[in-house]
Amino acid sequence: MEDRQDRGKCIIEQNQAQDNNSEGQAAVLKAEMSKNDESSPQVLEHKEKATDEGETTEETLQPEAGVKEELCQSVPDLQKNLISGTGLFGYVGIEAVLDQIKSKTVKAGFEFNLMVVGQSGLGKSTLVNTLFKSKVSRKSCMPSCEESIFKTVKLRTISHVIEEKGVRMKLTVTDTPGFGDQINNNDCWEPIVKYVNQQYEQYLKEELHVNRKRPIPDSRVHCCIYFLPATGHRLRPIDTEFMKRLGAIVSIVPVIAKADTLTIAEREDFKERIRQDMAANGISVYPQKGNDEDPEECLLNEQIRKSIPFAVVGTDKEHQVNGNKVLGRKTNWGIIEVENVAHCEFANLRDLLIRSHLQDLKDVTHNVHYENYRVGRLNESNINFSSELGLPAWMLENGHNDKSKP
Ligand code: GDP
Ligand code: MG
Repeated sequence: MEDRQDRGKCIIEQNQAQDNNSEGQAAVLKAEMSKNDESSPQVLEHKEKATDEGETTEETLQPEAGVKEELCQSVPDLQKNLISGTGLFGYVGIEAVLDQIKSKTVKAGFEFNLMVVGQSGLGKSTLVNTLFKSKVSRKSCMPSCEESIFKTVKLRTISHVIEEKGVRMKLTVTDTPGFGDQINNNDCWEPIVKYVNQQYEQYLKEELHVNRKRPIPDSRVHCCIYFLPATGHRLRPIDTEFMKRLGAIVSIVPVIAKADTLTIAEREDFKERIRQDMAANGISVYPQKGNDEDPEECLLNEQIRKSIPFAVVGTDKEHQVNGNKVLGRKTNWGIIEVENVAHCEFANLRDLLIRSHLQDLKDVTHNVHYENYRVGRLNESNINFSSELGLPAWMLENGHNDKSKP
């Protein structure tokens, strides 16, 4: 009995010490990153192919902790018993599960697959480097004469492991050099659509195997940043076509590249026109209205939707401003500070992609885009699949395993 009490106390102490450390994957990352804005993440290794995923959820745990807190506040005597673990409602230690989840998640690490699309020279590689404060994306070099003549859209994937404050993230960046660079850009989005679908197909095949890998290697594109040139006009036909087609299968975040070339007023007008064009063409970009889970999330996402597309500036150079080192672009008339919200909206983009919506982007990819692909694919080819895998056709109907059927 004494032994059990001691153990209860021990858990309480442990929990008090770790108080705020139990928010699930995205929040862990958010907390870890926001604790130290200045410290650059470290690139530990990088390779050419993507691998594993570690996903956990903790939805049902928070209300439990809330109930305990309420009881403690409303009944002071009970509070004593709860803490000592002797009363009828003695402390069980359920909330320690949160620490277990955290430690497992940190051990497994995070994974994020990002795609960047836009014409050459719009600053894609520079922006990815600015986002992760390191050389994660290769800078474009001038194509040779032959390459520039015969160039088509080629996809290039590079993986890196970044570590910040003990949290590891495997970042996979897929670049699409050659997109929109031809004289005839008809169907230049096709290799990209094909690539996105191929990743879903690979995941689906692995999921359907009897002896499947655990965790299933996840190379699905979690987010596609689409770079719009800062023309100050409207969406071009290629932008409309790309976003229409890709917006249906992947989460797109459009950005205005090299926004330092527009004045603030031009930028606002351009953004407004882009929003109008997107609405007129039925283009849906991330975060989609239908996917908001609660009023709080809806409020936050509504603000994001109002300021999309983000007008961003990228750089990989640091400069001294008022004695502080800042990421910026030096011009003859001053320094454009990349992370200063008065100068550009890079910070908004970084917050969306890394600090607030990283886990949501992964969830939307799995629950919405992959799910659509899975259902469509299984419906369309259940006969092929069943013969390939030796499964009866009814198991694959509508993508569900309805075990009640004979
Ligand atoms: P990519 O071909 O789209 O990957 O473009 P890069 O990242 O290689 O950048 C092409 C050129 O644009 C480089 O000289 C960058 O220094 C420059 N650049 C990148 N971002 C910006 C920006 O936000 N503003 C301006 N003015 N130039 C930029
Ligand atoms: Mg590049």
